[in-house]
Amino acid sequence: NLFLIRYKDTWNLNSKEYLHAVMFIDLIQYDVIVVGGGHAGTEAAAAAARVGAETLLVSQKIETIGALSCNPSLGGVGKGQLVKEVDALDGLCGRAGDWAGIHFSILNRRKGPAVWGPRAQLDRQRYREFIQSELLSTPRLTVLEGSVEELFVSEPNPEEPGHHRVTGIRLANGSHPISASSVVLTTGTFLSGSLFMGQSKSPGGRIGDAPSSAGLSHTLRERLGLRTGRLRTGTPPRIVKDSVDLSLANVHPPDSHPTPFSFLNTHTHCKPEEQLPCYLTYTTPGVERVVRESLHLNCHIQEDAKGPRYCPSIESRVLRFPGRRHQVWLEPEGVTSDILYPQGLSMTMPPDVQLRLIREIPAMHRAEIHTPGYGVQYDFVCPTQLSPALQVKSTQGLFLAGQINGTTGYEEAAAQGLWAGVNAARCALSRPTVALSRTESYIGVLIDDLVSRGVTEPYRMFTSRAEFRTSLRPDNADLRLTLKGFEEVGCVSIVRYQEAVRVRDSLQDALATLQALALSTQNWRKKLPDMRMSEVKNSLLTGMDVLRYNDVSFEMLASAFPECLSHHMEFSQRLKIEAVYRPHCNLQKKEIERIQKEENMSLPQDINYLTLPVSLSHEVREILDRVRPTTLGAATRLQGMTPAAIIHLFNYVRRTG
Ligand code: FAD
Repeated sequence: NLFLIRYKDTWNLNSKEYLHAVMFIDLIQYDVIVVGGGHAGTEAAAAAARVGAETLLVSQKIETIGALSCNPSLGGVGKGQLVKEVDALDGLCGRAGDWAGIHFSILNRRKGPAVWGPRAQLDRQRYREFIQSELLSTPRLTVLEGSVEELFVSEPNPEEPGHHRVTGIRLANGSHPISASSVVLTTGTFLSGSLFMGQSKSPGGRIGDAPSSAGLSHTLRERLGLRTGRLRTGTPPRIVKDSVDLSLANVHPPDSHPTPFSFLNTHTHCKPEEQLPCYLTYTTPGVERVVRESLHLNCHIQEDAKGPRYCPSIESRVLRFPGRRHQVWLEPEGVTSDILYPQGLSMTMPPDVQLRLIREIPAMHRAEIHTPGYGVQYDFVCPTQLSPALQVKSTQGLFLAGQINGTTGYEEAAAQGLWAGVNAARCALSRPTVALSRTESYIGVLIDDLVSRGVTEPYRMFTSRAEFRTSLRPDNADLRLTLKGFEEVGCVSIVRYQEAVRVRDSLQDALATLQALALSTQNWRKKLPDMRMSEVKNSLLTGMDVLRYNDVSFEMLASAFPECLSHHMEFSQRLKIEAVYRPHCNLQKKEIERIQKEENMSLPQDINYLTLPVSLSHEVREILDRVRPTTLGAATRLQGMTPAAIIHLFNYVRRTG
């Protein structure tokens, strides 16, 4: 029966067979139930099953599992790092991106490789199909179509008032409860969701989908006493491709050599020459005029809920920056799709006004709308009520991940989903929960920001949020996380682990060889005549020192020393990046270790944190001023403190103390 449920869609079960199967499922005690098959839910379910938990994924519609609700793209600056880390922990989205990508590019190339942003334009259908087929072939994972109506929790423990334990769920079709030791809620924009278009407002989580039941919100708020807030976001109208005059927009080609997201892939499914271009165009004064004339017809924009600051609607952009022209990217939605996605034109005005607006842009002066844009407002749970394992502090076994925690974006959702799934499984299997630190991953930064600072607007990842970004690079996510993921967490397959061990050993071997290659500057000049070396003195330089020079590549060194370096060519780019960043990262590591040793260092009690002449954020200054910790260790443990702030504080006290 379980097998049939997995293949319900493919085998077209009739409703009697389906109900029979669902009755059977009631009798099973699952380790983990994941509610919602979006980016958080799919990663959570797959991760829980990988850790060894018998897992059930329940989502409203099988066909929308893995759906890209908004933009057909994955990655970008900060977000690409999250995709690489999810992949390093054996998650799905990186491999799905490599399968479905139709336009790959590395963003931010003008800056150092630590902050490059791997990004791909995706074929929507291929992405969804990949995720669904991965889930259906994951051992210990059952996928069930259904809407979760109710969450069951035990009465609070009399010894720990207010503390509940999750026991299971009930579906909306009136079936019996399904029991589980852990439940992961990943309901995205569906919790008390409302859709907005023009002056109309209707219940919904996404166009064509009903919102999550009121029962779920009721349990979270009334029964568990969780604080919730309201956020909003929106999506642009989709445009009929043939109706756009692309000759009036600038062509934006992909990278000629697509870089895969996944450490397991050497190439992407789409061949370099088969990639599709994107196009760039701009808004005109006419667009601003239409926005202003139609504000009274647009109830979404008049609502109080906060929208995504870094992915604003065209209405917000025009109102915040009047008189400016704004970029509009025209992005393909798939290889055979006849639709374009106009990134930058998210809007919620009535459909006829949307048409008038897009036709103010020259490339779209005869454009037709395939599906109008709309807005959505939804409840989120204030994430400071969660532990670093993403477990609700007051309810054992209840985990939350994705947009429900106040974030925005597929990558942020996937990263949280994976970590919540890992911990839900570990909790169900009576293993201790695990946390990732800010110093080892962007996922650690994301979760720490959420649980220690909370959100006041939709949270998205940026490289600037990670103090240790020079160590947390896209190129080394496997070394940072895959080994730990296998040895300590249990969410990484042996195949991936063995590959990461091979990579680690080869890199260590190559780095040792480079370090041992010590020559005088004079001899380096002879070996590498093209190198512009500024050192005048005849000092001794290692291969690592020389590789740090802008004009020296690993290929040059390998051809100068083929006998000891040519077999490491596979890692030429990684070795170059490692050579450039290693001194800085080593310094940072030493600082962190020193601070750990100086836990008991006293902090002067007369210190004026508000005016301290060091680089501290306003928020950190306020926390320190309010709490006035007595030791460095106590400061480290304050909610909202960052490792970088601790380093600055430590250096200041040591200098002046
Ligand atoms: P989702 O991908 O929303 O998935 C939630 C899943 O849960 C769905 O499959 C749903 O069917 C299921 N579900 C919900 N309730 C239940 C229930 N009771 N029982 C069973 N299943 C349930 N992101 C950006 O980065 N920028 C944007 O500008 C942006 N705009 C957006 C505009 C719109 C209109 C929408 C809908 C989303 C937008 N997003 C945007 C958000 C992006 O889609 C999400 O960040 C991302 O999908 C969140 O992933 P998630 O897994 O948390 O939730």
